[in-house]
Amino acid sequence: MEKIEHIGIAVNSVEEAEKLFTALLGKSPYKQEIVEKDGVLTSFYQIGESKIELLIATSPESPIRKYLDNKGPGIHHIAFGTSNVQAELDRLAGEGFQLIDKAPRPGADGKRVAFLHPKSTGGVLVELCEDDPNAQ
Ligand code: ZN
Repeated sequence: MEKIEHIGIAVNSVEEAEKLFTALLGKSPYKQEIVEKDGVLTSFYQIGESKIELLIATSPESPIRKYLDNKGPGIHHIAFGTSNVQAELDRLAGEGFQLIDKAPRPGADGKRVAFLHPKSTGGVLVELCEDDPNAQ
């Protein structure tokens, strides 16, 4: 693990959350991106070498919608940057961590990502991410 790449925050409304975080951080988001497969609209703020990723559900079946219904808005996951997600997944599986993704898959903002199950990480949903060489 090389750095905290971003912190994901689940929010109900993109308009309200962007207004709040733009005031809080003193800057505007640099991009919005929909990840169709995950049922999520993302909005990104750059903070030094890390980012804040706002997560908004795009459908009632979205995992973010379910998370919001259960827990309400707030910190959803922490993403660690690494140069090799697959090598880290293999290492962590060997350490006994429960993988949600056995291999990296396309995520938002030009990354390949994989998640660990919060049951095995003290209740924290952990994402690993690396730059996707095929991202445009
Ligand atoms: Zn994320």
